[in-house]
Amino acid sequence: MKEADATARVQRLRRIGIALAVAAALIGFFWALPEPGDERLAPPAPGFVVRDVRLFDGERVVERATVVVRAGRIVEAGPGGAEPSDLQVVDGSGRTLLPGLIDAHVHTWGDALAETLNFGVTTVLDMFSDPGPARELRRSRASFAPRTHADLFSAGWLATAPRGHGTQFGLPVPTLSTPDEAPAWVDARLAEGSDYIKIVYEPRDANGLGAPFPSLDRATMAALVAAAQARGRLAVVHVSRLVAAHDALEAHADGLVHVHADRVADAALVQLARERGAFVTPTLAVIAGFDPTLPATAGEARENQRLAADPAVRPYLTPDQRRGLETSPGTKLVMFRLDTALASVRALHAGGVEILAGSDAPNPGTAHGASLHHELELLVRAGLTPTEALRAATSAPARRYGLADRGRIAPGQRADLLLVVGDPTTNIRATRAIERIWKNGAAVERRRYPEAP
Ligand SMILES: [Zn+2]
Repeated sequence: MKEADATARVQRLRRIGIALAVAAALIGFFWALPEPGDERLAPPAPGFVVRDVRLFDGERVVERATVVVRAGRIVEAGPGGAEPSDLQVVDGSGRTLLPGLIDAHVHTWGDALAETLNFGVTTVLDMFSDPGPARELRRSRASFAPRTHADLFSAGWLATAPRGHGTQFGLPVPTLSTPDEAPAWVDARLAEGSDYIKIVYEPRDANGLGAPFPSLDRATMAALVAAAQARGRLAVVHVSRLVAAHDALEAHADGLVHVHADRVADAALVQLARERGAFVTPTLAVIAGFDPTLPATAGEARENQRLAADPAVRPYLTPDQRRGLETSPGTKLVMFRLDTALASVRALHAGGVEILAGSDAPNPGTAHGASLHHELELLVRAGLTPTEALRAATSAPARRYGLADRGRIAPGQRADLLLVVGDPTTNIRATRAIERIWKNGAAVERRRYPEAP
């Protein structure tokens, strides 16, 4: 008995040690976030012209367009058009020019913003991270100077119950338990600089089934939504089950930042989402990574492993990203069923509910930047046309989250641009054939990571 006690104590200490190591690693990642200060001093890049290019302007396609960029901004975009003689010319024939992509669901630990930009994703919407490092990045995102990383918009800390989802990483997440606490909780986030409010809502159903951790109750979730909106901010909700999605929409959430995957969306949910004008960011890429029913062994590669093997993607993944994509998280949770999630997105989209593209990187089975290209492919599999999928990663998230200077290629917009070979408006996988990336009108040098022989 004593021996068993001692063994249990050792095991407990070991578990605490592992938890501390994970927390320390996360804190290290935060400190490693890029320092954008010196970039603000750099002048904007002079400019260039892209001619004879197929243009996807964030909404629609223009064949044979000319796009003129000066000092970090787009000054002209449309069919034909004069070519200023003082600017460098880029031949766009056989290519498509897109707005820099927006990933509407990420978590920005570590080198996330550089890894993201390496795949043409020029803006990310973070759905939970430490608000400290975000403060400086939030200031620098207004700059038009050349950048080496994507721009960050962030929820900061997420709203969750004590010991709820989001607290397992050892970070000092401020939790709450009652509706009365909601206004002060939201005020504290806005004081920290949160751009919007992200709420985790994972209630058990009537049979006691659900996530294996505590959740905010329905009234507290609804009070958080109301408090955010009363202060002019979006309230978005993490759900994984149909019943939770329904509750969140009933509470007037602006958007759901996962599609539930326990059951296919029913007509009542689709109707409610449409009536409320809510959007859904399904994060199919992370669901594909976690789905326990998808092949997990060699021979039949998983979705995420096929992404890592894609020759258009692989050279640009860091060794850590390759490892992340090649892991099979393996879970028995029913909420991670890709076929069910795809069917729900199909029903929501057909019912007129706006879909946004988000990857939930860097969860296991995903990688910053790369997984947004995977998400686009999955959205097309769920019934969006390639052009609709591209809108879901450009103009739609910009409009929904109030990012007025990006998401479209139009005069006055920030010159965040992606030039790809081929036509992603007919073959979505062409978004991976990246030839050039510009952030604030300055060419981004893509980083390659050769593999050891
Ligand atoms: Zn997430």
